[in-house]
Amino acid sequence: MLTELPQHMQDYLTKEDVPWLSIEEINARFPHITAKEITPVAKHVKPMLSLENMFDLNDLVKFISQIRKKLDLTEETPIEFCIEPKLDGLALSLTYENGKLIEASTRGDGQTGEDVLPMVKHMKSIPQVINFTGSKLVVRGEVFLKRDDFREINAKRLAANLVLYKTPRNTAVGLLKSKQPTEDTEKLSFFAYSVVEMDTAGMTLQTQFESLSFLEKIGLPVNPQRVIRTDKDCLKGIDEIQQLRPNLPYGIDGAVLKVNNFEFQKRLGESSTSPYWARAWKFPSAVGYTYLEDVIWSVGRLGAVTPVAKLTPVTIDGITIEKATLHNLDFIRHLRLQKNSYVTVERAGDVIPSIVGRAFDTRENPVYEEILPPTQCPSCQRELKVESKALWCSGGYECPDQAIQSLAYFCSKDCLDIPFMGIEAVKLFYSLGWIKTIDSVFTLLQRRKEISQLPRWSVKKTSKLLDGILAKTKESHDMVRIVMGLGIPMVGRRTASLICQSFTQSGWESLIHCLEHPETLAVGPMTQSAIRVFWSSLENREMVKRLSHFLPLIRDSSNLGSTNTGGLPTSSKVCMSGIIKGLTRDEAKKLVERHGHTVVDNVTKSISTLVIGEKPSEKKLSQARKFNIPIVEWNTYCNKLQ
Ligand SMILES: [Zn+2]
Repeated sequence: MLTELPQHMQDYLTKEDVPWLSIEEINARFPHITAKEITPVAKHVKPMLSLENMFDLNDLVKFISQIRKKLDLTEETPIEFCIEPKLDGLALSLTYENGKLIEASTRGDGQTGEDVLPMVKHMKSIPQVINFTGSKLVVRGEVFLKRDDFREINAKRLAANLVLYKTPRNTAVGLLKSKQPTEDTEKLSFFAYSVVEMDTAGMTLQTQFESLSFLEKIGLPVNPQRVIRTDKDCLKGIDEIQQLRPNLPYGIDGAVLKVNNFEFQKRLGESSTSPYWARAWKFPSAVGYTYLEDVIWSVGRLGAVTPVAKLTPVTIDGITIEKATLHNLDFIRHLRLQKNSYVTVERAGDVIPSIVGRAFDTRENPVYEEILPPTQCPSCQRELKVESKALWCSGGYECPDQAIQSLAYFCSKDCLDIPFMGIEAVKLFYSLGWIKTIDSVFTLLQRRKEISQLPRWSVKKTSKLLDGILAKTKESHDMVRIVMGLGIPMVGRRTASLICQSFTQSGWESLIHCLEHPETLAVGPMTQSAIRVFWSSLENREMVKRLSHFLPLIRDSSNLGSTNTGGLPTSSKVCMSGIIKGLTRDEAKKLVERHGHTVVDNVTKSISTLVIGEKPSEKKLSQARKFNIPIVEWNTYCNKLQ
């Protein structure tokens, strides 16, 4: 079960919409893992609160008038605010004793955080020793990743054929919460922004601004960008921070306003979740204006030909944008885009920028040009077809761009996961004519000498590549992934799952039967016809046949994702024993758990069933008999699950 957490972490780092799990969520989802097993926890001396957001002027006016009322100040009395950039990272609490770092924890639920001291000790930006002689100091700040460091980490991942991280923030969270420090951990940056507790005789801090200077003086990194403004000039201060945004080496998503006077802060107090003396002003997502110079039509793995806008380079939020996705023809028509249009480009987070619309063009007599969809494939010059509002090239492996994309996908983490077979390596071997269809990846095994003589391919690297390829021929592979990797137009994960679910028995024979008879599949007529076209080609049939020799072991996991509980109670505790044919223990466990049941290690009175495979443990059998617990064979149990 513990092995599921790193997978979730991988997903968190590389996919969108995958949330980071807090300790509470981990407890809820993985009840048999105690928090201690995941990561040690640390109790905060004072709750770590979050800030309430302001989005417009009304929010700001309300915030200030509430402060005035609570402090009983007249309209004439100015209120001073310390305004700081709001970093896009995660909060960290540091404790120093006699000047030495002894504790570091994340926010967690606000009361208790995760102890991340081992990772923090590897961060170059956080000093282990500070120039502070008092007995205890607790400070808080933000951990983040600078853009250049983020790019560097991703460049390394690209070279190693690993899935790229999505955003600097996700990466920072992942690095800080990982189990083992890496050289990337060193790259994490930190800015301290508040003093929470200070044990020292005589010395007191009066204001937020003063405390930032103090933190700086004792050797902690502090964001140099900060301003003091009275309530009347607040907006100006926020604007000053926003102006800095494009030129900062890290991402910020707003400004933080704190009442500067600590005495005032104390009187204003806080709710259970946020202080009454501070607010975050959120900036809108970053936009830029530029010209749409041209449209490039690119061919995807499954033959879809999609438009990409080539833009006059424009800098948005510190990053130069030269391309933006145009999705499809409808999108272009809907926004009435033409070549040479002046357009608004939006960049939210680190996703591919997109064109939001046309902007007002102030040039005199600009000349626009209609964007016409190509009639021929830009890669193989085949006639294109229009289907589902998209353009398609039916070239398959005969189309160079599709072949390269298919090969790269087949070797990627999403499919076979072959080390050192990133897109650059695929392009190189393809250009040399060594690989063409996915099965030909295995013929590289006969080219050891030739590969090792290529520029930038050492004997050692070649060995690692070929060892990786060889290893794949001995492993068993998830059938859904293999079906997706075949490169059948219109067959993505959903269709691949459907194909695999209709198998009467697992293995290549079933797959071939399905491809021969797409009419038996629960897929639409278009997909059926795509499969028929794919299978009508002798080359493809030969390719699948050769592939079945290279990858003899495939296993069915198409129904692992189902949540139907069928004839069993909606949730129950079961114990498993013995060897289950065709599945690892972990896979079997996951299958049961996906149906809402819990798998426990020992036979106790509270379990509903003992599920057995081959050679179950005698001890578990006798215990089950003693407690009168039903003993069910795996296959029978599975039938009930479906
Ligand atoms: Zn083509």
